[in-house]
Amino acid sequence: MITQEQIKAALLMKRDELNAQHIRREDIAIQKNAESLDDIQQSADRALVLDSLTRNWETNALIAAALSRIADGTYGVCVECDEPISEKRLAALPWAKFCIHCQEHADRASMNYRWDTAA
Ligand SMILES: [Zn+2]
Repeated sequence: MITQEQIKAALLMKRDELNAQHIRREDIAIQKNAESLDDIQQSADRALVLDSLTRNWETNALIAAALSRIADGTYGVCVECDEPISEKRLAALPWAKFCIHCQEHADRASMNYRWDTAA
């Protein structure tokens, strides 16, 4: 049995972890003076960094939403169907907002958007 205190601690820890990931500005900056092969490599690196920034942002938003559901007493209930989300799922993914069935539905509806695997 996991308590909401444990969930909350896990959410705050993950949020701190994401915020601590310092992305250097020069990792994103375009460096015109590089040789062409380096350009390609750097462009790939930039895409990775931007992808990672986006995923961090998404996870941060999900964590904030989960924390507010804890605050208002609706945590652990699927936002789509109002069914309880399994404890196993919440333990693995404390910011999950859908039960497994609604998650699968959402995944099918939006193949390119990863709702809660943003970590
Ligand atoms: Zn559901």
